[in-house]
Amino acid sequence: MEEDLETQVCMLQSHMDGMIQRAQKNEEMLKRVQSLEMRLLSLNSLRELIEHIHDDAKQVFKLESLALVLADENDEIKQFLTEDGFMFGDYQSVKLLSNIALFKEKFGLSQRILLGSFEKTLSQEFWPNESKAPQTVAVIPLLRRGVYLGCMIFGSDDEARFQVDMATYFLDRLGKVLSVCMENTLNYEQLRRSSLFDTLTGVNNRRFFEQRMDEEIHRSMRTGDSLSCLFVDIDFFKKVNDNFGHQVGDMALTHVAKQLRSQLRGNDVLARYGGEEFVVILPTASEKKGVEVAERMREAVAKAQLEIVGKHPLKLTVSIGVSTFIVDMPGASKAVDKAVLIGVADKALYLAKNSGRNLVMAGGEVMAVSAVKKKSA
Ligand code: GH3
Ligand code: MG
Ligand code: MG
Repeated sequence: MEEDLETQVCMLQSHMDGMIQRAQKNEEMLKRVQSLEMRLLSLNSLRELIEHIHDDAKQVFKLESLALVLADENDEIKQFLTEDGFMFGDYQSVKLLSNIALFKEKFGLSQRILLGSFEKTLSQEFWPNESKAPQTVAVIPLLRRGVYLGCMIFGSDDEARFQVDMATYFLDRLGKVLSVCMENTLNYEQLRRSSLFDTLTGVNNRRFFEQRMDEEIHRSMRTGDSLSCLFVDIDFFKKVNDNFGHQVGDMALTHVAKQLRSQLRGNDVLARYGGEEFVVILPTASEKKGVEVAERMREAVAKAQLEIVGKHPLKLTVSIGVSTFIVDMPGASKAVDKAVLIGVADKALYLAKNSGRNLVMAGGEVMAVSAVKKKSA
């Protein structure tokens, strides 16, 4: 009798120990998941978010594999990540899926996490091509306001790891937090990009121009290529506003921007600098080439007329100043401030205005300062 009681106490004790151990394990897991979530919530860019999920979630959940499949119907995410320098080659487990109908087909619009063997739960379209398929998976949907953003897939080589009837509290939580982060960073990226364009004319704005100007100057320094900068100003634009009103003035600005753009290649940058002034960056263009392009732009604007309902078509002209950055030795020069190049083009524009308008003037070449002296032959 006494022995029975002792055995029961022992069993109870070991049961208690097991429960305490499980509670401790859950608490540790909660702490790890919480700290992962806090890190995710503090990130601003999509690139950082993806890199963190990829590197940290695998560790926190002790997974053999992890895949992140994102809905990317218009290649927008691809473009964001490419521009942000994301190394797709280093993150084979990140898959961008343009056929978003597949998400609905496979998951409906359910928030439910799918668990089970790889074959039964997932189709190959959702698994990165190069990666070995795991034994069992947990497919965590990323869904915000009824829109599928994608899914995160946890993979294990243990066939008992992700069972259909298993509790999914931590996975649910992480899925919801990641969905919010994903939506926020996507909104942020879209906003960041839209802030680089001028809303009236649709060409880039001054901020974008200044960023690109710095980049292009540095590129020229590395490659030794020259770079031309054009400063464009619409002639007698005040008269357009005075005679036809600001609405027509706005139409005229958009019209001129369109004519200017028509003479440029994909790599060239056209931006509205302010008011009725535009700037152009022509990467790799010599002074001769810069003047040639500027001349084509001037002609295009002068030829194209703006139709105004009930009035004579409006004729507009522009004056353009050109400056050119040249580098004597690739990789061996000190940078020139963009303000110098813009200033030279602006002075040339002033000259064009004073010489009668509807003209192109070259302000000359600005040479990069050599840090290393050329060896004499
Ligand atoms: P110039 O040939 O010497 O360049 O003469 P201008 O009349 O073009 O030059 P000025 O700088 O005197 O006038 C520029 C005008 O551009 C004044 C301003 O009302 C107009 N403007 C600037 N921004 C906008 C805009 O966004 N919309 C409209 N409609 N007009 C604008
Ligand atoms: Mg002006
Ligand atoms: Mg003007």
